[in-house]
Amino acid sequence: MITVLNQTVASKKKPWQIELSQAKLSLKELLDYCQLPMDNTFIDHNDFVIKATKNYLSCIQKGNPKDPLLLQILPTIEENKIIEGFSNDPLQEKSQNPQTSIVHKYNNRILVVATGSCAIHCRYCFRRHFPYEQNRHSTKQWLKTIDYLKAHPEVDELIFSGGDPLSLADSTLSLMINDLENILTIKTIRFHSRIPVVLPSRVDQDFLNIFKSCTKKLIMVIHSNHANELNSAVKQACLSLHEHNFTLLNQSVLLKTINDDSRVLIALSHRLFDCNVLPYYLHLLDKVQGAAHFDITIARAKQIYTQIQANLSGYLVPKLALEEPNESNKTIIM
Ligand code: SF4
Repeated sequence: MITVLNQTVASKKKPWQIELSQAKLSLKELLDYCQLPMDNTFIDHNDFVIKATKNYLSCIQKGNPKDPLLLQILPTIEENKIIEGFSNDPLQEKSQNPQTSIVHKYNNRILVVATGSCAIHCRYCFRRHFPYEQNRHSTKQWLKTIDYLKAHPEVDELIFSGGDPLSLADSTLSLMINDLENILTIKTIRFHSRIPVVLPSRVDQDFLNIFKSCTKKLIMVIHSNHANELNSAVKQACLSLHEHNFTLLNQSVLLKTINDDSRVLIALSHRLFDCNVLPYYLHLLDKVQGAAHFDITIARAKQIYTQIQANLSGYLVPKLALEEPNESNKTIIM
């Protein structure tokens, strides 16, 4: 039975919803919080505004303009440079968008762009120009997604992405998970979310209860780039997810001046393991316009990776990968 999304639940906002609703910041507010002076290399970006949760901000070292967490959210004039080889749709997802809100790139799995909303705006995001407006998720779209799954029995995994799927209301997520329970060809439900890292209060009991009777395999790929992001609240959220049958994996992006250093990535792997999360992918940057200043060469990436391999047990070493448009799988570099 298909249920209806977006039911209005007359209830008070939860702490995570309040924190999420307060995540937009002006450049001045961000700099004031970080106790930093205005600089003419910083910009107030109108199309991709500054967004960060209180939890994430609390992990930034005040007074440090090079803080690796700050650099992930601070817009600079570098974003306005048009760089050859960088585009608005680096993975050419528009051509793999068979119907609104679905990306079907790999044979056995589809990606559902469940929402355009995120709890943080990462300046390197490869979907920063994604046409979310044209891919707005709705009850109608979700019903079409269910029809699509019925017509494609080869799809055994559904990936909720976004935006950030954990920004959806519990009622919406719950209805989706219930509907998927009836699609027998779906064996695995995977979430790609940065919310356990930036808004760990979202992983509350109501959220966990949604999955109580779910019979599918559950995977949560958190997206953390630096060990400083993984404070005790994040660790608790990860442990709770693990206790509720989620397999936890991490995907990082290799970012210049943020984590392009083997010591930083080794510390990240250790901290992830503390949180019951296994390192999964270390991605080269997707070449999206506005993010070229985060890019590093493949040669440098290989150098860093060799140092990681030499200093970590194999299970703590993520795969070094990049994604290329129209390829049937990720390209594993090492
Ligand atoms: S989709 Fe992910 S990487 Fe992009 S802004 Fe949202 S949280 Fe950041």
